[in-house]
Amino acid sequence: MPRTQPIKAARGVRDILPAAIPLWREAEQGAADVARRFGYQEIATPVIEQVELIQRVGEDTDAVAKELYRLEKRGSQDLALRPEATAGVVRAYFEGGLNQGPQPSRLYLIGPMFRHDKPQKGRYRQFSQFNVEVIGGASPGFDAEVIELAGSWLDEVGVRDVRLELNSIGDAKCRPAYLDRLKDYYRPLKSRLHADSQLRLERNPLRLLDSKVGQDQPFKSAAPKITDHLCADCAAHWALVRRLLDAAGIEYEHNPYLVRGLDYYTRTVFEFYPGGARGQQDALASGGRYDGLAEAEGWPSTPGVGFAGGLDRVIELMAVKGEPVGTRPAADVMVLPDGDLAVEAAEVARICRSVRSTAVDYEPKSLAAKMRSANKLGVKFVVLLSPADAAQRTARLRDMSSGEQTDLAWVELPTRLA
Ligand code: AMP
Repeated sequence: MPRTQPIKAARGVRDILPAAIPLWREAEQGAADVARRFGYQEIATPVIEQVELIQRVGEDTDAVAKELYRLEKRGSQDLALRPEATAGVVRAYFEGGLNQGPQPSRLYLIGPMFRHDKPQKGRYRQFSQFNVEVIGGASPGFDAEVIELAGSWLDEVGVRDVRLELNSIGDAKCRPAYLDRLKDYYRPLKSRLHADSQLRLERNPLRLLDSKVGQDQPFKSAAPKITDHLCADCAAHWALVRRLLDAAGIEYEHNPYLVRGLDYYTRTVFEFYPGGARGQQDALASGGRYDGLAEAEGWPSTPGVGFAGGLDRVIELMAVKGEPVGTRPAADVMVLPDGDLAVEAAEVARICRSVRSTAVDYEPKSLAAKMRSANKLGVKFVVLLSPADAAQRTARLRDMSSGEQTDLAWVELPTRLA
């Protein structure tokens, strides 16, 4: 039975049409160029991973708890679409034996991620990330390096008005005592907090600091700050990251409320936001140190630091700059057969393709109509092919900008088009 409604794309996903592709390529190319300039190598991991890997590293995050795309179970493995890349990259680092080579491994990945998020502008169910990881390196130099890399990428693609926020969330040595302080501070205020925050108070008190609900805001400013309670090692790390950023001329704001709610995150956390307006905005790139992640996945304890940049959001800002996109024609040359000459036109196109991109207009329309559409497409040359031409393996080449026309043999086309 015919459907009354055409079938549309799934909710929260987007097509990238040809006109928008140049901007995507520019953002991806910029990412790859900057990563390589910093000595990073590309890695590609599957978009499906075992649910267990994803859950081990993200149990308490929305991306995993509420937004995971789980696949129907087939056979014994429970699989899901990856909501982020770091878990898979760390897995691949060990499985692929990169941990046996010189350390650290500097890796980058560009690819799609999947989250069953509430769709809105800048928030999609399939989105693309530029992911950068340094695995096997504990020095604060790496923290500053990935921050500089993220900033250089945004700069490279023309997104210059950004704000960098930075914090340290300590480590397994100093964080537990700080969390006790935080709970002591919030307990008397419990009844005045949002219901979700009341639940977090005992389970994941750090998350109270990045609560976005209005009712929790008045209590934040007097809450103890973790950077006032770091152990000596974390304090030294925090100081050196800031010194390195200062020396690199990278401006940042210390945001004591910037946190991550998972135990394996350690020390440095940072986020890049679009500059200007404040308030609840979506980050362009988010990152930090995760010295406990490898162990959470069941591998030997190995330090790491990295970030994920959101291509969709960065490209939206690049597009706002208003650069013309999508003006390039699909092909330089269009072959216009006059009549039923598909085989011959295909052969002529094959000859032209040795030097220039070439397409054939196979539509059953008049030569005049084919000329009009070639004009509209903005091709540089057309090759007109009549039945008499085809019989003699000749054609008429027209230069669309000068209007100059030349009759020539097919074999001469490559030299004339080159
Ligand atoms: P996260 O892994 O949540 O820290 O996200 C890292 C980056 O990916 C963010 O800074 C965003 O730029 C981007 N991002 C996260 N979720 C989405 C989404 N649903 N749609 C588009 N971009 C996203």
